[in-house]
Amino acid sequence: MNSVTVRVPAKVNLQLAVGPLRGDGYHDLVNVFHAVSLFDEVTAVAETGMSVRVEGESADQVPEDDDNLAIRAAVALARHAGRSYGVSLAIRKAIPVAGGMAGGSADAAAALVACNELWGLGLPLEDLMEIAADIGSDVPFALLGGTAVGTGRGERLTPLEAAGPFHWVFALADGGLSTAKVYAECDRIRAEEGLPVAEPRAAGALLAALRDGDAKALGAELTNDLQSAALRLRPSLAATLEAGRGHGALGALVSGSGPTCAFLAASAAHAGELAGALRDAGVAREVLTAHGPVPGPAVV
Ligand code: ATP
Repeated sequence: MNSVTVRVPAKVNLQLAVGPLRGDGYHDLVNVFHAVSLFDEVTAVAETGMSVRVEGESADQVPEDDDNLAIRAAVALARHAGRSYGVSLAIRKAIPVAGGMAGGSADAAAALVACNELWGLGLPLEDLMEIAADIGSDVPFALLGGTAVGTGRGERLTPLEAAGPFHWVFALADGGLSTAKVYAECDRIRAEEGLPVAEPRAAGALLAALRDGDAKALGAELTNDLQSAALRLRPSLAATLEAGRGHGALGALVSGSGPTCAFLAASAAHAGELAGALRDAGVAREVLTAHGPVPGPAVV
């Protein structure tokens, strides 16, 4: 096989509970990931060296060198196989860059699936999951798709039952937010408040709403402990969230570390109306609709 193309979805966090800062600089998380129908595409072509090209949504903000997460994934897979494979990767981005929707992690997961196929390695998902966890804490979920709860740094995953489909609207902002800076701001806010920080726990009502496919209950349970930090760094997001709530969103939150805002709608038709209202309100660079949960990366 000379070329393999893999389509991979973005994620939104339905619950992102951030525990106290640990001695190693990380936080224990409870991270309910939900894969949505907004896709990047990664094409792997057999080559002697390793290279990557990026086109599409905010492509100019994505590195085309060894820092690219898809290249890091290909290098890690070749190392795991103990061979000096080469590949040329072409990434077509639709997932917002540095948008809190794990686009880079998605590309890394897609590269693992594509190169596993291209190089005829036939590694099982468990092996790819181990390699994925070394690349970044959101990469294992990007390999899995669907809906899952992540603990630890988010990389220890348990798949969740989710009836769905749930209908989403995403408001994309101008420019990204650095995940590291948002966590640092969250720590700063907590230090100012001086209150004890609880150990993170999955919300039972959220898990029940997912199982039952109850969008209204799910909307009421969406939470993100990084939201106040993202809002401090990007105050304009408050108006975006308010506009969605004002137009009947069942729930509204910043996705992951932001700045993308996610709104849960009652139906596909409601998502279309809500998207139109957000565009008219001028509170986002671009507004997209999607549904979830969707499966993880797939060869197309
Ligand atoms: P998360 O939700 O996991 O915090 P994010 O969606 O906020 O992530 P990404 O789009 O994954 O952020 O990108 C974060 C940074 O990673 C970007 O600023 C970019 O420089 C770098 N990066 C490396 N490889 C990629 C890639 N393939 N796609 C996007 N960004 C990449």
